[in-house]
Amino acid sequence: MSPETILNQWGYLLAGLDEKALALATWFLIALVAIAPLEKIFYLRRQKLFRKNFMTDASYLFLSGIFPSFLLVIANGVTVIGFRSLLPAEWFATVQSLPVAVRIVAIIAAGDFGFYWAHRWAHEIPFIWRIHCIHHSPTEIDWLVATRVHPLEVVFLRSISFIPVCGLGLVDLSGGEAEVFSLLLLSFNNIWGIFIHANVKFRFGWLEHILSTPHFHHWHHANDSPLVVNKNYAALLPVYDRLFGTLHQPKSHFPARYGISTYLPEGLCRQLAYPIVWLWQRK
Ligand SMILES: [Zn+2]
Ligand SMILES: [Zn+2]
Repeated sequence: MSPETILNQWGYLLAGLDEKALALATWFLIALVAIAPLEKIFYLRRQKLFRKNFMTDASYLFLSGIFPSFLLVIANGVTVIGFRSLLPAEWFATVQSLPVAVRIVAIIAAGDFGFYWAHRWAHEIPFIWRIHCIHHSPTEIDWLVATRVHPLEVVFLRSISFIPVCGLGLVDLSGGEAEVFSLLLLSFNNIWGIFIHANVKFRFGWLEHILSTPHFHHWHHANDSPLVVNKNYAALLPVYDRLFGTLHQPKSHFPARYGISTYLPEGLCRQLAYPIVWLWQRK
């Protein structure tokens, strides 16, 4: 991947910055209008809509919606080049000839497999945990916690999730079809991500074994006891937690407590700098 290609891609991203910001603002308003009434009627706990850190979390939506793309261009570009040199062109052609429905299911399954491991490493590797713990710090969970993510976490999770998808030949970046796929998947992931954080008491019966739900993900944020932390890593498919021994889905109840025991400074700027400061202070 030449510096010229990277600069071209960055130029393209910079040119679309205002459109991207507008799209994020629209997303934010749609989510607010769609989810806030649900949280008001079907609330799990009585919580304020405009609670502490509301503006900080909304700011994360814009930061993490805009800046990671600049690094993802490089990370995903390297992955594509790597697999293209490792795998025969016929492999990509064969996979691309599969029916669209098969490829969509395969992309979801492979992407979530990558996400499961990236997310698990984000909990197990101390430096990456200092990036990810920002998402886990709230002691009240609602839809907006979904946006409370450090930009470097987005780069880490998305670039790792992309590796198995690309390795299976499921994206052909030379085709516009791949862009439509990834846009659809990304949109679905974002909507579902907001929903599974929502302060709602919905339960989904047998579907909870197949798809992540608010109950499944609220237990990922649980801080009830050391026995229930570091569970439920999957974004969409709980089967990976069942397979790798990290599933925690008690039948009846939601967690009693959320949050972390790790230190985290208050305020957006200090939190953004915290992982690097932590690394520096360890020297
Ligand atoms: Zn996590
Ligand atoms: Zn979460």
